[in-house]
Amino acid sequence: MSDVIAVIGAGQMGNGIAHVCASAGLAVTMIDVSEAAIAKGRATIEKNFERQIKKGAIDAATRDAALARLSTSGDLGAVKGATFAIEAATENAELKFKIFAELDRLADSDAILASNTSSISITEIAARTKRPAQVIGMHFMNPVPVMQLVEIIRGLATSDATLARTVALSTALGKTPVEAQDYPGFIANRILMPMINEAVYCVMEGVGTPEAVDTVMKLGMNHPMGPLALADLIGLDTCLAILDVLHEGLGDPKYRACPLLRKYVAAGWLGRKNGRGFFAYA
Ligand code: NAD
Repeated sequence: MSDVIAVIGAGQMGNGIAHVCASAGLAVTMIDVSEAAIAKGRATIEKNFERQIKKGAIDAATRDAALARLSTSGDLGAVKGATFAIEAATENAELKFKIFAELDRLADSDAILASNTSSISITEIAARTKRPAQVIGMHFMNPVPVMQLVEIIRGLATSDATLARTVALSTALGKTPVEAQDYPGFIANRILMPMINEAVYCVMEGVGTPEAVDTVMKLGMNHPMGPLALADLIGLDTCLAILDVLHEGLGDPKYRACPLLRKYVAAGWLGRKNGRGFFAYA
């Protein structure tokens, strides 16, 4: 029996996860509290399918079949009937705790509740539910339809069966799962965020312009994308939230977010998602 998926959050990650689930032949419901986010999420999925058609990766019939498997809802109750709920709402611990308590109440008793959190403790999220053995981290990378990795994070109480089902789903989605332990930032952001933060310090201290910093990392280190362009893609609010989790959870001042990053977020310069971050976007 194939999985039925509910994705909570229709933002850049949520719509990407819904896209790959629908592409893999699974029925998927994308749920968000914001009607505007649902409309934008669906439009993004359609645009990304269009791009895949133009590249010759899929044909129109495949797109139409995938879109027919996708539904949307403004009500978390739509999680009923799903075998997997994948939460990709805003990176905020209190918000995720609340969503998981609700999911636990609303989802089928044998459903797995996964979080796409970048940094928040899976163990703590799981403790808000009565089914901690069925809670797991499923950390997709951005943009989801393109990136190969899914970091799988096992909370303290996550069962072997939950891990096995999550690995199987990741593989069915065409991704490569890699297991990480439940410490702040897991593997990906434990390594990535200090680099991004240091790049912001370089700008704040005048060591280099954003263009110079990114060019050094692209041409000098062979990174496909500079750290500041990547921060803009991730969302500067999300980067700041992750750094705060690393700083608080690990207690080491080396994870303290650069004041310039905090200032950009305070100004509402969040990166690509609203047109202005370290670089400007049309
Ligand atoms: P985003 O801001 O693009 O989207 C978040 C969405 O969550 C918004 O549409 C918002 O309306 C919705 N939301 C807020 N409260 C909700 C609720 N109670 N119920 C349902 N929906 C709700 O953020 P994003 O970049 O998609 O990030 C989502 C999650 O994915 C975060 O946990 C983030 O850390 C993680 N993540 C992000 C990236 C990245 O590159 N941006 C990469 C990997 C993981």
